[in-house]
Amino acid sequence: MKDIIVCGTGAAGLSAAMYCARGGADVLVLGDIPGGQTLNAHAIENYPGVEMTDGFSLMEIMRKQVLSSGAEIKTERITKIDFEKKVVNGTPCKAIILALGANHRKLGLPNEESLVGKGVSYCATCDGNFFRGKTVAVAGGGNTALTDALFLSKICKEVFLIHRRDTFRAEQTLIDKVSKAENIICFLNQNVKEIKEENGRLSGVVTEKNAFKCDGLFVAIGTVSNISLLPEKMCNDKGVVVDTKMQTNIKGVFAAGDMTDTNQKQIVTAAGDGAKAAKSALSYIQSL
Ligand code: NAP
Repeated sequence: MKDIIVCGTGAAGLSAAMYCARGGADVLVLGDIPGGQTLNAHAIENYPGVEMTDGFSLMEIMRKQVLSSGAEIKTERITKIDFEKKVVNGTPCKAIILALGANHRKLGLPNEESLVGKGVSYCATCDGNFFRGKTVAVAGGGNTALTDALFLSKICKEVFLIHRRDTFRAEQTLIDKVSKAENIICFLNQNVKEIKEENGRLSGVVTEKNAFKCDGLFVAIGTVSNISLLPEKMCNDKGVVVDTKMQTNIKGVFAAGDMTDTNQKQIVTAAGDGAKAAKSALSYIQSL
């Protein structure tokens, strides 16, 4: 039996695991390749204490910190959690910390899924290079969409930024940079209504007001909490409900990061949540 199983290997999960292990617990971390959504970030300028880095470098440091703190990391997809008996993928434990993150929100267009890898992408860092010198569109108006548009503007010929409202949700510094980028053209007050296809590849995008040819569409319209393994009673429409100690409504089960019902989805807030969840889980197992 493990003391604590951390479900998830993003910033929240790795931070939780490090704090739990340093607190003396026997910790197992389960999840996909360590790093989570942060791996997609090509430029991170707002993680305190780090002037400028990229997602891979930051998460590689976190992964190494977790291992040197004494926790075990197993790259294994989590398929079954028994919350009452505290068993994750068949391994029993005394407390569970959930840090399963969030998935990309989809536009919901008929050919969106079939064109993934053939023009449609949810990750500019991963796929941007395939569109070097080409014309691309980015859908969204938050930090991700504007960061992606700026990244793509440096390698692509033209970037069409499509946002459903007339103002962006992103930070002002990003908005200022976008307005200065000569090859980013903003299409405001419109949605991607149709993805045009030619020879099995994306060939253009249609909005309520425009239709244009492009080679790629980067969808950056936010995330949906990854709560499919959780019972309904633990969640609201935004994610897992937690109190200020990151305690869920099941005793001994804590949650952290983007899968919670928070509006704050930053790497630093996920890491902070992880530390808080760890401290609460440590107190919980000591009370048993
Ligand atoms: P977000 O902040 O939730 O923004 C999503 C954007 O997509 C919004 O502009 C939203 O429009 C739009 N949208 C949502 N659903 C849509 C739909 N069905 N069709 C068309 N447009 C839609 O998501 P995000 O940009 O991915 O950021 C997620 C979190 O990560 C945020 O908390 C963000 O601050 C954080 N993040 C931070 C950084 C950074 O600090 N540098 C970088 C990346 C992400 P409305 O504006 O009309 O709602």
